[in-house]
Amino acid sequence: MSFFGIVGEEKTNVASSVYYGLYALQHRGQESTGIVVNDDGIFRTHKDSGLVNDVFTPQAIRHLGLGTMAIGHVRYGTLGTKERVNAEPIVVNHVKGRMAIATSGKLVNAQSLKRDLELQGMIFHTNSDAEVISYIITKERITSDSIEEAITKAMDKLQGGFCFILMSPQKLICARDAHGLHPLCYGKRDNGQYVIASESCALDSVGATYIRDVEPGEILVFSKDGIKSIKEHCKKKPEALCVFEYIYTARPDSVINGCYVHDARKKAGALLAKAHPVEADVVVGVPDSGLDAAIGYAEESGIPYGIGLIKNKYIGRTFIAPGQDVREDKVRIKLNPVPATVKGKRIVLVDDSIVRGTTCARIVKLLRQAGATEVHLRSSAPPFVNPCYYGTDIDSKEALIANNHTIEEIAKIVGVDSLGYLRLEDVTKIGDSGNCKGYCSACFDGKYPTAIPEKIINKFEHKISESEK
Ligand code: AMP
Repeated sequence: MSFFGIVGEEKTNVASSVYYGLYALQHRGQESTGIVVNDDGIFRTHKDSGLVNDVFTPQAIRHLGLGTMAIGHVRYGTLGTKERVNAEPIVVNHVKGRMAIATSGKLVNAQSLKRDLELQGMIFHTNSDAEVISYIITKERITSDSIEEAITKAMDKLQGGFCFILMSPQKLICARDAHGLHPLCYGKRDNGQYVIASESCALDSVGATYIRDVEPGEILVFSKDGIKSIKEHCKKKPEALCVFEYIYTARPDSVINGCYVHDARKKAGALLAKAHPVEADVVVGVPDSGLDAAIGYAEESGIPYGIGLIKNKYIGRTFIAPGQDVREDKVRIKLNPVPATVKGKRIVLVDDSIVRGTTCARIVKLLRQAGATEVHLRSSAPPFVNPCYYGTDIDSKEALIANNHTIEEIAKIVGVDSLGYLRLEDVTKIGDSGNCKGYCSACFDGKYPTAIPEKIINKFEHKISESEK
């Protein structure tokens, strides 16, 4: 999940800028998308299930009209949140005004916050954290002098790996959790507009110059009076940037906490080559997220890098297969081997991670069918053994292949001649060239920087109580 916001003094076509920003962030969520434009306190919204390009037709952008600010969102559907109603941003009217809010990441205490609010009579329409956060903020707003004061108080109650962006009639405000689990940055356009985005590649897409990352715990307020930084929650908790952002989630052309994602991935590949060398003829990366690490592996090992797999450019990260029985074809449609590179060759195949183990097994089969004589699989992430509670859709330990099998068994299951993972002690070194002070690598080592969520209570599974009968 991720968001994009823009704010300036003049009324402009902010909707189309947000559209381009969201287009650059599409890799972070494909489930639904939305934009809210602020036109002198009138909020115009358009949101729906689907990709940015499908939801925002030229008519939809026209309907959003001009404004001084706007926010937008792309949603990555995690378990139980895929319905259209969960599309963000959400707009709420409260006793002191109106606001629109969009989030990224996930709260770990959303369920208990929601339960407390429900017991006070609040009614929720969605499963999204955005609604929980907006209730917490609007409650605080009643006894606060300003929206930023309400947000500052609300931040004390929110736990997890989250960022949000909020638009009131006069202000655009963004916040990053105190651990800084997910990236958030801002920049400026030549025309004076400020732009806030979950990833720096989105700033580039609208011609904004990157200024800096929002600090962990920081609240930034953009208004007529300029930019105000509230640091009450900064440096209160250990920094814990999600290392999987470098490995898989972010785009290689983004910079996070001062480190280029491309550099981090290349470094992962180089460390992998040092830890798991092998004699081979060519290094092939799995497009797209394995390519940078493959280049790093090739440079470190001296084995030539080759383009061995071509990805169909018109398929996104999630490709909806027309039926269950076409699973094999799904990989074939998405990826095709390049015989000129693989035929008769010993291949080092570099992928960013092995989660359930199904994708790489199919790729290995394709490479062998195309004439590869040996396939040595290298993963630029350590074995994935724990669920993530901060917004990556890895929800059950049982589904993770590394929990149920040894490395030798996994090599056999996916059909490779050898298998090597990035060493756990190397994973936090990959972003070394940046200025981050600490990482979350809980999916690999189980060390969660926050409390983990209590068991999720599904209302519909509850037995009907006596009073309800
Ligand atoms: P598999 O081992 O079949 O589960 O697929 C692993 C591949 O899926 C990796 O190489 C990644 O490119 C990609 N991947 C990793 N994490 C995720 C995620 N949370 N959601 C979707 N795809 C992912």
